[in-house]
Amino acid sequence: MLKDEVSPPSTLFPTAVREVIQRNYSRFEWARSWVDLAGAEKTLTEWGDAKTLWLLVPSQDVGRAMGSAPWYPPCPACGRNASYRAVDPLRSWQVECVHCKARFPANDFDAFFESGRDEQGIFRRELANPNLLVERSDAPIPAVDDGTGWVDSKGQRHFFVPVACRERWFRLISFLHQWARAFVITDDIRFARATLSLLFRIAQVYPSMDFAPYAKLGAFESYGHKRVGANLRSHWRDGSKQWFVRRHTMPSSPL
Ligand SMILES: [Zn+2]
Repeated sequence: MLKDEVSPPSTLFPTAVREVIQRNYSRFEWARSWVDLAGAEKTLTEWGDAKTLWLLVPSQDVGRAMGSAPWYPPCPACGRNASYRAVDPLRSWQVECVHCKARFPANDFDAFFESGRDEQGIFRRELANPNLLVERSDAPIPAVDDGTGWVDSKGQRHFFVPVACRERWFRLISFLHQWARAFVITDDIRFARATLSLLFRIAQVYPSMDFAPYAKLGAFESYGHKRVGANLRSHWRDGSKQWFVRRHTMPSSPL
């Protein structure tokens, strides 16, 4: 049995509890909404490789921000209220204006990000190559973002990469949620391994995560996003600890 490879036994999800969950899942429609197994399988195939996960997790040195806030300066391309969404946050650091679809930032932040990995592969802004902070020749607005936003000629800060980063965190946390539950239902060790690889990587960057420096720069983060929102605010340490522990005890420790 695959689950016998997993030790020590899960404390929050002991065998008896897992069996009840598995039984309900097989019998009842309402229980099946607990996890989308097809979706979990798809994201596992696409993103569940340990090295891929390792490289995806950002560090404290990439800001987080919501895509809009009353005090944000307007979109530099169309002048309408700032409202940005990530284009494809696991593959790109770009966001687009919801009104005019202009994309920001103008630089290749990924190149800067890759140049700033330390010996553990964790991004440190001070290690990154500043020569890579240049706008593409075809960029309509020379909005260069080093991970903390772009400051325009009026001294106003626009959050681009931090919006994409926030979305990346949401996706990664949703993977934990999805894979941990998929493991409880299926006992498929691949879900446990991916969950734990991702948790391990998050644990490496976790101690230095703090939203406060970005809040000081004007970044906004809502408070009401269930448990996940707390991760990205100054409550990162307190609010999310229990949640992460819960995810960790689902698959226990096969690594
Ligand atoms: Zn716009």
